[in-house]
This record gives sequence, structure tokens and C-alpha cells, in this order.
Amino acid sequence: MRPRLDLIHRPTPLVVPARLSELLGVDLSIKRDDATGGAEAGNKVRKLEWFLADALATKSTVVITCGGTQSNHARSTAILCASLGLRSILFLRRGDLKDEDATGGNVLLDRLVGAEIRWIDAAAYADRTSVLANAARELAESGERPYVIPEGGSNGLGSLGYVDAMREVKAQLDASSAPRFDVVAHACGSGGTAAGIVLGARQHDVAKQVWSFAVCNDRAYFEAAIARIAAEAKALDPDLGAPADLVVDDRARGPRYGIMSEEQRAFLVLVARTSGVVLDPVYTGKALFGVVRAVERGEIAKGARVLFVHTGGLPGLLAQSATFEKDFA
Ligand SMILES: *Cc1c(COP(=O)(O)O)cnc(C)c1O
Repeated sequence: MRPRLDLIHRPTPLVVPARLSELLGVDLSIKRDDATGGAEAGNKVRKLEWFLADALATKSTVVITCGGTQSNHARSTAILCASLGLRSILFLRRGDLKDEDATGGNVLLDRLVGAEIRWIDAAAYADRTSVLANAARELAESGERPYVIPEGGSNGLGSLGYVDAMREVKAQLDASSAPRFDVVAHACGSGGTAAGIVLGARQHDVAKQVWSFAVCNDRAYFEAAIARIAAEAKALDPDLGAPADLVVDDRARGPRYGIMSEEQRAFLVLVARTSGVVLDPVYTGKALFGVVRAVERGEIAKGARVLFVHTGGLPGLLAQSATFEKDFA
């Protein structure tokens, strides 16, 4: 078996927020993967348990990865590297938001733990795979042992973290003799979480159907990306069977990556005030908004048993305080 570090407070809680269920019109449970840990928390830690085990096993000295300005993945990587005594280099895309907060939120945490940030523009970021490969080559030439983690930690190895998360959910269901879910819903940004969930949901009989709410690219892009990552995962773990039914929904993306519509912001505020469930504006807020829309359209049945995977993102919310000012007027 491949090595995996134990970096998560597991199992993460599975909670039933009654007032939020009422608001949404479904029988909702939330898998609190925003609580995988402390400042490093979020869905990326489940992937990093595999990557960083691999980095240590290969005696790597420096971890290289990339993301948007307010990348949760880059922040989780930076914090966990600091805890393991590894150097980290983050290639962050400059200029994601109009009133960009390039010092607060995730970036504050990146800098706090001493990650080396290398800012690149959107054009360079489009070619991120070669940016990471070139940096790795240069570091190797200077005597370092670099370990490259792809955007979002989304490849077959990282996705195994979400196959295992579904095993964890199944054990939680069994412990309370609860039936399986009708739908698992979550935010999708680079596809690795979705690939692990579709494989794990079927493997561990958590649900027949998975709804992945795209926050950046479109449905065709993610259908291909998720299929590719799931194929990589199966190559690593031949015991994995067929995936669950997948619906990629790109209708809740909002105006653009990182930006919510006014309606989406109002929903995020309403959810917080109704239930104390704090969503983020980049991923989870859009995904749960997408669930509401799908229920309104009758595509997810009223009263359905829905598992929402809360993937984290709190620092990204804190970086948008200026945007939310108008919602509090
Ligand atoms: C990265 C991220 C996602 C999306 O996960 P992917 O595996 O990249 O699709 C969802 N929510 C949050 C908060 C994230 O940081």
C-alpha cells in the first residue's frame, strides 16, 4: 500500500442542520471537511496526506504547487510543509479579483508560515504545468529535491483522499443505522475531489448520484477532467469499481471565478443567519446555491437525502470583507 500521512482530525463531523434543511427543502446532512484541521483545514488536506507522504518518502526538500491568488490548496500545502520542515514554493495567479486582496486571507497564512510566493499573471498561469516543471528542473540543478503537486492537488493520487472520505461517511451512516443518501453535492474547482467522491460514493454505497457544482470551467471541461483523474485513481487502486452517476452542473458559477452574484451573496448571508453554517464565496456558497436551484427545478427531489460536503474556504471569505459590506447595509 502507498504511504499516507495522518494529518486530519478524523472522522470529520457529519451534522444534520435542521433549520438549513427546512430552508432548502431537502433532508440535508453536512460532512464538515472544513474541519479537517486548524488553519490548514479544508478538502485539500485529504489529498495532501498522500502527496506529502510521497514527498517525504522520496526525500524531497521543497514542495512546489500553484493556484489562484486566494488558493486554499496553496495555503494548506504551505502550512503542512512548515509543520513537516519542508520548504514550499507557491506560484499564485495575480489579478483574480477586481479589488483583489493579495495580502489577507489565504495569502496572509502563506506568508505567515514562510512560503515563497512567486506571482505570475493569468497568461503564464494558463501554462502552469510547464511553469511548475521548469521550476522543478531549476531547483534540481541547484541541488534541491523538488516535489511537484498539480493545481488543486487534483490527480489520481490526491483523489484517493476522497474515496476514503466516502468510506468514512459510510461508517458514520452505519453507526447511526441511517440509510444511504440520494445525492452527494459539492463544489468542483479542479476535479480531484469529484473524482474521489464518484468512485468512493459507489464503492462504499454512500449514494448513487453525485452533483459536482463547477465554480470555474464548464461542464464539458469537468466531465473530461474528472474522468481522466478517476482513471488515474483506478490505475493506482485496481480494487476501485465503477463510479457513481455524475451530474456536473455549471449553472451556479456566478459572474466569474471567485465572484458571487448579488443573489448568491444574499443566500450565503441568509444561510449563515439561519443556521450558523458559514460558507465561502468561491466554492461552497456557490455549490449550495446550486443545490437550491436544482431543487427548485425539480432536478433534485424535494425531501431528498442530500449530503453536502463542506470543503472549507473560510480564509477566502475573510479576504472579501469589502465585497460583503454592501450586504450588511
Ligand atoms: C479546492 C476547493 C474545492 C474544489 O476541490 P477540487 O478538488 O479542486 O475540485 C472546493 N472547495 C474549496 C473550499 C476548495 O478550496
